[in-house]
Amino acid sequence: MRNIVKQVSPRERDFDMHSPAMGLPASPDGGHKGELIAPSDSFGDAEDSWKDVDAKGKIALLELREPSLRGAKEERVSGCHGGEHATRPRIADDQTEAARRALAHARAAGISAVLFYLEGADILIGLRFDAPGDKELPPASVLRSVDATALRKDMDAGGTTVHVDLELRERSVDTFNVLTVPPDADAARHLFGAHLDSVPMGPGIDDNGSGSAVLLDLAFAHADRKAGPVEFCWWGGEEDGLRGSRHYVDTESLKPVRGYFNMDMVAVPNYVVGVYGNGPQSHYTDHLKTIDQPWLEGPDDGMSDQVPFLLADVPVAGSTPSAAGPRR
Ligand SMILES: [Zn+2]
Repeated sequence: MRNIVKQVSPRERDFDMHSPAMGLPASPDGGHKGELIAPSDSFGDAEDSWKDVDAKGKIALLELREPSLRGAKEERVSGCHGGEHATRPRIADDQTEAARRALAHARAAGISAVLFYLEGADILIGLRFDAPGDKELPPASVLRSVDATALRKDMDAGGTTVHVDLELRERSVDTFNVLTVPPDADAARHLFGAHLDSVPMGPGIDDNGSGSAVLLDLAFAHADRKAGPVEFCWWGGEEDGLRGSRHYVDTESLKPVRGYFNMDMVAVPNYVVGVYGNGPQSHYTDHLKTIDQPWLEGPDDGMSDQVPFLLADVPVAGSTPSAAGPRR
């Protein structure tokens, strides 16, 4: 399978770390080689983003918008009270929507291929397009922010040419959740969860071997202490759209669930103790206070397995070493 993003001039450089967007067409045989250009607004999702720009046959470098959970919440159909959950919006729908608009404008301007990046995000970000008409958009991949910055430097210094050759074959795979079974399914309990999968292009050590291992350790500790009814959940398919946790929220009774604690990327070596949540994080912060450990409190939005619970009105909390940044 070919998936190439290369800088051709003024220097040769391979960008091995990029994440082709799912659901878009592949590049033609041999890919596209062209000048890399950016619109005036950097996002390219406005009607006039490419006004007065000769974009034909060129490759666009476009900034992604930050996903906003608030946007997703506003779109949510109300009416969870009867026990039936209304259809929930896909996570980061707003980011995908903006990217879709940007791709449509790029196509209209004659752009051959698009390279996205999310400012400050040096991890791989997957975009998935599955609306009617998406197959008409240009092929696209997502670069790390650090690589986009390097390319922009050359762009600004006189121009740069890149070669983009994307071919993405979608395939279906089975995934699964590993759940502990509470002795009484109706007993009030707290859930602790971590995702078992990782991104395809990464060893998965921090994301999320770290959270899965901490969860296992917690389960052992709990078995010894019997500290109250809890359920441990190792989720599948988080990186492909929070599949495991969404399935749980869609199919299990949430009535007995008093709160959900998420563990994702808990081993980032940046020496920051971070917590987030909409209430239950006091369990963490009360403890941190007693041991005199400073912490940073971050937003409770993000893109990990706490989100389906949050959208279903289950109080959530999580610990993260990078509370100030987006969670993935
Ligand atoms: Zn993760």
